[in-house]
Amino acid sequence: MINLTDRIKFIEAPNGGRFPYCHCLLIEDEIRVLIDSSFGKENLEQLIKKPVDLIVNSHFHEDHILNNYHFPDAAVWAHSLDAPAIRSLDTFLDYYGFKDFDGEQIGWDFIESIDLHASPVHREFEDGDTLDFGHVNLQVIHTPGHTPGHCAFYEDKSGLLFSADIDLSGFGPWYSHICSNLDDFIVSIKKCIELKPQIIVSCHKGIIQEDIPGRLQKYLDVIFRKEEQIVNALQSPMTLEELTAKQIIYGEKTKLDPFLRVFEKMGAYQHLQRLISLNQVDQSGEVYFLK
Ligand SMILES: [Zn+2]
Repeated sequence: MINLTDRIKFIEAPNGGRFPYCHCLLIEDEIRVLIDSSFGKENLEQLIKKPVDLIVNSHFHEDHILNNYHFPDAAVWAHSLDAPAIRSLDTFLDYYGFKDFDGEQIGWDFIESIDLHASPVHREFEDGDTLDFGHVNLQVIHTPGHTPGHCAFYEDKSGLLFSADIDLSGFGPWYSHICSNLDDFIVSIKKCIELKPQIIVSCHKGIIQEDIPGRLQKYLDVIFRKEEQIVNALQSPMTLEELTAKQIIYGEKTKLDPFLRVFEKMGAYQHLQRLISLNQVDQSGEVYFLK
């Protein structure tokens, strides 16, 4: 673990924080707090030795709540919009949209393969709330888009932003859910830029201190680049199935298994919804075309 401040520690997850892991925080204050919990087996073995009072989840995703159930005595807090999908696996699948995209069985197989457990949520917080742990206060920055209740957490004193899955990965923003929203995601990334953090802790890229505004902007630009590719593809009107086959979200070189294929389709779907709302695209039956 790396000390970020005298009371905030960085929990480095295995495999560079790649799925199904995420880098997390441990706050040792008047209470002992975890921010997210998918930090891998070795960290779990260490952390479980001392009682944890509270787990704060940045959002409902499996790779952020995976170890919640190992701390049955800890309170769990999450944003009100994501709390239902943490409490219920059925709602988890609804939020993902597997059911809407003919992938319900894929969804249940996925839950089983990662041994995901539902978790209680004892407090639902909102944008602007202060999470007070004694000396450390984190401000809730509601940053929807990735999921409806996705939140980042900001410590004013140190300028530290736990940005969760505004993760600054090379892949770019991930919005392949029925519950994702591209317009919200764009606003949320801009919100992080305006905050001017000194240090970012990304759940999948770790500690970032260099060129934070530039990296956030580059990350945001991935959305617009994919949008442009979709507009270009729609020079020939096509169905969502045909657009999915172009693999604009995951890239042509990625071999899509049935699971990723559902995500490819949902990602393309999100772009189409945004382009329709921007009045650039229209739909006739199953065919999408440029206006
Ligand atoms: Zn996520």
